Amino acid sequence: MHDGLQETGTTLSQIPTYVTAVPNGTEKGLYLAVDLGGTNFRVCSIQLHGNTTFSLTQSKVAIPRELMVAKTSQELFGFLAKQIENFLKTHHDEHYQAHLERRNTMGSQVALADAEIFQLGFTFSFPVNQIGINTGTLLRWTKGFDINDAVGKDVCELLQAEIDALHLPVHVAALVNDTVGTLMARSYTSPGKTGTLLGAIFGTGTNGAYVEKLSKVTKLESMKGSDYDKSTGEMIVNTEWGSFDNHMTVLPDTPYDSDLDKESVNPGIQMFEKRVSGMFLGEILRRAMLALTQNPKSKLFSDEHSGKNELQSTTTIAEDSALYKQWGLDTAFLSIVAADFTPDLRVIRLTLARDLGVDAASTEDAEAVKLLVNAIGKRSARLSAVAMAAIVIATGNHVSRGGGEDDVVDIGVDGSLVEFYPGFEDMIREAFREVPEIGEAGEKRIRIGIAKDGSGVGAALIALVAAQAEKKV
Ligand code: ADP
Ligand code: MG
Repeated sequence: MHDGLQETGTTLSQIPTYVTAVPNGTEKGLYLAVDLGGTNFRVCSIQLHGNTTFSLTQSKVAIPRELMVAKTSQELFGFLAKQIENFLKTHHDEHYQAHLERRNTMGSQVALADAEIFQLGFTFSFPVNQIGINTGTLLRWTKGFDINDAVGKDVCELLQAEIDALHLPVHVAALVNDTVGTLMARSYTSPGKTGTLLGAIFGTGTNGAYVEKLSKVTKLESMKGSDYDKSTGEMIVNTEWGSFDNHMTVLPDTPYDSDLDKESVNPGIQMFEKRVSGMFLGEILRRAMLALTQNPKSKLFSDEHSGKNELQSTTTIAEDSALYKQWGLDTAFLSIVAADFTPDLRVIRLTLARDLGVDAASTEDAEAVKLLVNAIGKRSARLSAVAMAAIVIATGNHVSRGGGEDDVVDIGVDGSLVEFYPGFEDMIREAFREVPEIGEAGEKRIRIGIAKDGSGVGAALIALVAAQAEKKV
């Protein structure tokens, strides 16, 4: 963490975000936000009421696989702009039609000066080199995306170009990393006066952003960035912790991890993420199960009880089972398995049949699968705890959070894994207590809250801050 604040090119990127304040819940207005995660594209409008509450309207579409690896970035960004257009027509048609009329009477020049234009926060959850509040070039794709001509380009410009091609009344005001959005959203909605210290994502990928003392971000001095507000003495830093220890000096490793990595689109990169996040846990499990079924010494799906407790006499695996397909198993499967406490593990056996075409698995088979799931899930949660604890420890002495009236360290989290995997937070807390610098007392002071719709509200809040700053100039 320390190295990354001083120089560029370290494995923990520690990217300055140019966001220098966290909200306090009094902010107001109507904003747009879009979120390109890894699996879905969300469009939403957010009405901030100024009393820590907001109303949100949203739509969500799955990103077609072929667009993730499209030949040109225009195909992907054109698709995104089209979704924004659909959203405006569905939910803000009056506003949209009024803009079209003004445009018809006043010509296209009206667009930029139009006060009725929507300020949009663009949550883009891939590593970018951010050089201003709405400027950032793509460093590399992650999470299975691979569109060559986008690398090195300003992603806000790519989106704005497609928005303009459709003549939408929308200005891309802020480029938002989902972790920063989560941090902002949690800070707006969290109870009490304590600002949030850390926003963390455990979804398709994993990453964290935290409040750092500005004077510690010494590499800013040598970077050509746009102007930013220095008055708060703080800046939100995007760690990009997914690439922690790409050199594999401390991370745990198994044959399933290393094979998954070798056969991924970005071998040797995002090594921490590949052991923690939703995109990968299902695939680790698939590889472990497959290896056991192929190992003659192992009895997975072939022990003496297999099949006996169902109508057929042996367990069968369908020829086209997802067990044989790379990325065939979703991490949601692990959540189902981990939640089954029925005596004969009926839910697991049913799910094995439904999702994997494994018919008539025995209770022993289900127990074995549950052991694997628990190991993979627990390792993910404990590694997550390491990353979060590191930030709590590293900022403990110089970022003023907690210590106040409620003496808490507030953390906002988001992502399907932390939201739906049973006991994920409990396992994180268990690990916190084992970290000597945190211990039982420290763990109690840490408050973790799901920042539901985090990226939407957070992006709106950053668009608000950015639009206000633009007005001042
Ligand atoms: P994004 O990362 O696109 O913002 P999410 O936070 O919803 O979206 O994360 C999607 C990831 O979470 C996928 O990798 C998926 O496999 C995983 N996932 C979806 N549902 C569950 C679940 N019930 N339990 C655990 N992981 C899940
Ligand atoms: Mg997300």
